Amino acid sequence: MDVIYRYDPYAPIEARGVPNAAAAKQRLIEGNERFVDLVSRMQQRTLGESASEPIVVPVSPLTMGLPLFPGGTPTQAPFAAVVGCADARVPTESVFDQAFNDLFVLRVAGNVLGSEGLGSLHYALKSFTESLKMVVVLGHAKCGAVTTACDAYRCPETYADVAVTHELRSIIDQLQIAARAASLALEAKGDVAETTLDERSKLTSVAVYVNAAVTALALGREIRMFGAHSPAVAFGVYDFDSMRVQELPGSTVSGLRSAPESAKELTAYAREVAESLLTMDGETQARSCQMTMQW
Ligand SMILES: [Zn+2]
Repeated sequence: MDVIYRYDPYAPIEARGVPNAAAAKQRLIEGNERFVDLVSRMQQRTLGESASEPIVVPVSPLTMGLPLFPGGTPTQAPFAAVVGCADARVPTESVFDQAFNDLFVLRVAGNVLGSEGLGSLHYALKSFTESLKMVVVLGHAKCGAVTTACDAYRCPETYADVAVTHELRSIIDQLQIAARAASLALEAKGDVAETTLDERSKLTSVAVYVNAAVTALALGREIRMFGAHSPAVAFGVYDFDSMRVQELPGSTVSGLRSAPESAKELTAYAREVAESLLTMDGETQARSCQMTMQW
């Protein structure tokens, strides 16, 4: 299987500008679908399927966000800001198949927001009023920080061992809201289906989605308070099994959901996540929720 990056200096170059939030969201979703397609094809080839047609990717320094000629520094002009987890398995630009200068990325364990993160976003909002159309919170499945927070929620005696410094406590404490909301949602939807998942896997699997929504809700409020430039806020969760950024567990398409704007919307979303998880087929559920991370 061949993947060919092809540069033709005489080919017309498509405009890179993103006109609005809908276009920004579409570009991120399409980028994730390209990533899924590429990796899936390689995996199928590994399993012995015959090689498909080569994938030809037209590139130019400009589409890569780099200078067309030697020298010079591009003006910074990201079309989206992304708040993601520091997890090494979820590199933001790769997951969304985006280039240099496309994304303004903040990565913090558990994709929580502290004052430095918010300050960086304020800077982005103030500096990129023309280009920045969207802010995205990107959670991911099997998150070590969320797992630890859920463990502390379920077994508070473990808190003393993991939250040994102020810095670690500040992450674990912020994640307790998601752990509690996920727990309540599972309780409310507990009779949806039989499941072989243990309590820890269930709680963590729902909490990663709820946590992305909680951060998006808080961020939406911060951005509206900050002032004139208020790009749309959305969130999604990267799933290792599907390689998709998705709105709900078990999704078969890539997607980003608009940030909830109230506690009521957040509660409804948490219940939707719990129901989606509990109604996935058993094999997908087990694979998707298998615990791999420890703090
Ligand atoms: Zn994580």
